[in-house]
Amino acid sequence: MAVGNCAEEPPTLFFPSDGVGVEVAKKICEDCPSKEPCLEYALANRIDHGVWGGTSERQRRRILKARRSAALGQPAGA
Ligand code: SF4
Repeated sequence: MAVGNCAEEPPTLFFPSDGVGVEVAKKICEDCPSKEPCLEYALANRIDHGVWGGTSERQRRRILKARRSAALGQPAGA
């Protein structure tokens, strides 16, 4: 995150309390050079709160669920 687009932003911006705030944070992440590792860090550490790697909490839950399903050889959403 030290080289990410958020380095100069207040950390609270990435822990929004509503959908508008989530979209603002995601917009900053959009072209961040650290987007991929940031997302993988959040997924690997099961970080539930905040916007990481351009994803919301809900999106990360979906990604983890899809990966679990894929690992089990099940279609996503099963
Ligand atoms: S992807 Fe977003 S939260 Fe992660 S380092 Fe970049 S700007 Fe920060």
